[in-house]
Amino acid sequence: MATDLKPCPFCGGKAEYEQFANPKTSYSVKCTVCRCGTYGWDCPSTGTHDGNKAMQAERWNRRKGELTN
Ligand SMILES: [Zn+2]
Repeated sequence: MATDLKPCPFCGGKAEYEQFANPKTSYSVKCTVCRCGTYGWDCPSTGTHDGNKAMQAERWNRRKGELTN
């Protein structure tokens, strides 16, 4: 399941998932241009690849004014 990642809020660059070396199930979402991104270390260690990607995608894609809680 791939969630579309929004363009970078700072520079408009393309965002990509970055897989951690350890644990490999952890990901962050990073801008390929300015390298800003989500933290990623907050992925649950018990999470799946897809689950952790979805969690980071949700954070990356959230914009002010779109908060749901
Ligand atoms: Zn950027």
